[in-house]
Amino acid sequence: MNNLDILNESKKYMPGGVNSPVRVFNGIDANPPIIKKGKGVSIWDEEGNEYIDFVLAWGPMILGHCNDKVVKAIEEVSREALAFGAPTKLELELSKIMCETLDYVDMIRMVNSGTEATMSAVKLARGYTNRNKIVKFGGCYHGHFDGFLVQAGSGVLTAGIPGSAGVPESSIENTLVAVYNSIESIEEVFKAHGKDIAAVIIEPIAGNMGVVPSNKEFLQRLRELCTEYGTLLILDEVMSGFRVAYKGAASLYGVEPDLVTYAKIMGGGLPCGAYGGKKEIMEKLSPLGPVYQAGTMSGNPVVMAAGVATLKEMHGNPKYYDHIEEVGAYLQKGIEVLSEKYNVSIRVNRVGGMMTMFFTSALKVEQYKDVRTCDEDLFKRYFVHMLKEGFNLPPSQYESMFLSTEHKKEHMDKFLKALESFLIKESK
Ligand SMILES: *Cc1c(COP(=O)(O)O)cnc(C)c1O
Repeated sequence: MNNLDILNESKKYMPGGVNSPVRVFNGIDANPPIIKKGKGVSIWDEEGNEYIDFVLAWGPMILGHCNDKVVKAIEEVSREALAFGAPTKLELELSKIMCETLDYVDMIRMVNSGTEATMSAVKLARGYTNRNKIVKFGGCYHGHFDGFLVQAGSGVLTAGIPGSAGVPESSIENTLVAVYNSIESIEEVFKAHGKDIAAVIIEPIAGNMGVVPSNKEFLQRLRELCTEYGTLLILDEVMSGFRVAYKGAASLYGVEPDLVTYAKIMGGGLPCGAYGGKKEIMEKLSPLGPVYQAGTMSGNPVVMAAGVATLKEMHGNPKYYDHIEEVGAYLQKGIEVLSEKYNVSIRVNRVGGMMTMFFTSALKVEQYKDVRTCDEDLFKRYFVHMLKEGFNLPPSQYESMFLSTEHKKEHMDKFLKALESFLIKESK
């Protein structure tokens, strides 16, 4: 069966042929390849075509696909420990690594996805503060939990829908939405509702409306407001954690969260998530406290082993982050030069190995409204061109590209060459 046959057959058994909506190409004139295997920066589809991968499973594969050390750890543990639903030393090991190497995590709870991490962190914040309201920012995505599906990013934004069906009004009546990177907006929200706000959740470096870093004064002001009103600040580092720096965005901004959420990289390619933070807050979780949250598979030994192998490798090799920054800067510069040369406006936002090329003539992309100025049709033509040239890219203007330790300058040169042939075509 070729790619298309498999996709068509899949559509009979799975809605849309996929298990997560972003995997099909929304409005793009191409079909997703069916991926069979991956190694390093490369992935191969069922027809044997090779692609240089800039999606990396939407972030997790920072060591490239099927890193030898991670695979070995999984192999070894899986021979004697799949699941027990009982305490294991492996979960202690990953928890200890995270608490000891991250600045703002005294205690941690393992879960199975980013969504589980964020929704549980919000519940904990509500239980701790005895308040109901939460604040999110337009364009940010925190998973598919009902309470977050208001002006959400990622697939919701790509599909151009305001939220999701099946979310009762009562699930979102306590969700307030503020404007990302607007001090004025967040001050207004606090002025009106401050005493009722349990938590503010934010992607400190947004990746789900394309990459839009928050600016420092904004994040600092947000921290001040949270402290002033007794509101918990939740940094959602599901994407940025262990990616923009080992210690995540929190370390780049020096802004102290009350709770932090992780997933993606920390699971080394297996399903994983975690939330952690200040001891006095975490101790409100059951079995110690009244906030109930549980999981049959939470802290699964195989997942923990993949996480330990990945985090040890990343923590032990700070030069990996230097390397990613170096190839990232090289790629960004190359894109900017080509954009100028062929007179096609592209704004590149990048923090380390997280990057979006916005096809817009806006001078800066700092807010959701700037993101919305992009030429989506141009993006779609670019995407199809790059796919044909052998590049696996996120199929949306509103997602981030990712780099791994395995991306080298030669891959960037190939990318730039393919981009140039696209721009030549467009500028004719
Ligand atoms: C991916 C992501 C999530 C959701 O994680 P899942 O594992 O897909 O549930 C939440 N927050 C952010 C910032 C993300 O990038």
